[in-house]
Amino acid sequence: MSQKIPFITLDQAKEIAKAYPTPFHIYDEAGIRRTARALNKAFAWNPGFKEYFAVKATPNPFILRVLREEGCGVDCSSVTELMLSHASGFSGREIMFSSNETQGSEFAYAHRLGGIINLDDYTLIDTLEESCGIPETVSCRYNPGGEFSIGNEIMDQPKDAKYGMTRAQLTQAYRKLMEKGAKHFGLHAFLASNTLTNAYYPTLARILFTTAVELHQETGAHIAFINLSGGVGVAYRPEEPDNDIAAIGEGVRKAYEEVLVPAGMGDVAICTELGRFMLAPNGALVTTACHEKHTYKEYVGVDACACNLMRPAMYGAYHHITVLGKENAPEDRVYDIVGSLCENNDKFAIDRRMPAIDRGDLLYIHDTGAHGFSMGYNYNGKLRSAELMLREDGSVQMIRRAETPEDYFATFDFAGLKFD
Ligand SMILES: *Cc1c(COP(=O)(O)O)cnc(C)c1O
Repeated sequence: MSQKIPFITLDQAKEIAKAYPTPFHIYDEAGIRRTARALNKAFAWNPGFKEYFAVKATPNPFILRVLREEGCGVDCSSVTELMLSHASGFSGREIMFSSNETQGSEFAYAHRLGGIINLDDYTLIDTLEESCGIPETVSCRYNPGGEFSIGNEIMDQPKDAKYGMTRAQLTQAYRKLMEKGAKHFGLHAFLASNTLTNAYYPTLARILFTTAVELHQETGAHIAFINLSGGVGVAYRPEEPDNDIAAIGEGVRKAYEEVLVPAGMGDVAICTELGRFMLAPNGALVTTACHEKHTYKEYVGVDACACNLMRPAMYGAYHHITVLGKENAPEDRVYDIVGSLCENNDKFAIDRRMPAIDRGDLLYIHDTGAHGFSMGYNYNGKLRSAELMLREDGSVQMIRRAETPEDYFATFDFAGLKFD
């Protein structure tokens, strides 16, 4: 069971809202560090282990710097993510470039920063060679096709995913890259998202380890690292089980001992590209209840909208909501919690049992630290909120200001329009 306990109290939230009006995203530095340390501890048995945080989940330099202090690198897939990472202090082997449908100019920039390039497709070998040459270390992304299941449970359908190379293409790719001078190889796969089973990484690891042994035997390539990518999930719902990262690390170790070590490949480094697991529970969206509406349903309107958190509108995703200060009040109402977009899917909760909400109440939307702010957009002229960081000493730092109308209008200033 996941405990849904906010990392700020009502009094803290009220104090913060005086300086930074709602809605705002807030992150918990102590929680981010705790999560990173737990992950590093779970994989401490592997001397080369490194987490490359998936920048797309939370692209903010203050957060990236905290993660860097905890020994993490970054996983990027676009030029601007590379620029942000570089400006935040990352370079060389601290950068993994796991892109797809990549342009040569993107490879060239990743290569210039010294990042490790992870190729999504066989045809990208030519693109890479033309743009910056073949580096000594290069990685390939695998898609085994078919269905991916653990036990009886179907986790996802790799056959329908646009990512990665077929098994035959992997062999061809390694051979071609070796001919062109590559010496050290990585192998990567991402087969299921937001998994809630400690068996995901160990199952994936076994597939990748077995494939790595085969590739080594077929081609003679030196496999330097295996990248388990993202996909370890978080319990968004209180009744869901939390993943146990120590058990996950132990499961991967067992597969490593059973598959890689007997093949004489006990020097392979493990890496991960987690985004959600690292940040989701360590961020929240705080919003004020502004209206109530009684029609065919009971609505509470808040000052955040899907532009601040798209996941419920886009995937029907569940995010737990705590009415701050009413943690122990009876949940004797049923509400739709809605934003102000002219879109009927702009709902943070539908038919949710909650305590009675009054105008002015502060609502804490849980687990928005990954794929939250970063998926924001400007539909209906809505502006992105500020991002704040609750520092370990209890102080609050603004780590990104809220957008202003000038930001929204900035890209058509050339039209000579004047806004007063
Ligand atoms: C999105 C992504 C991740 C992170 O996924 P999470 O679900 O946030 O862990 C890692 N690697 C790649 C290549 C991705 O596209």
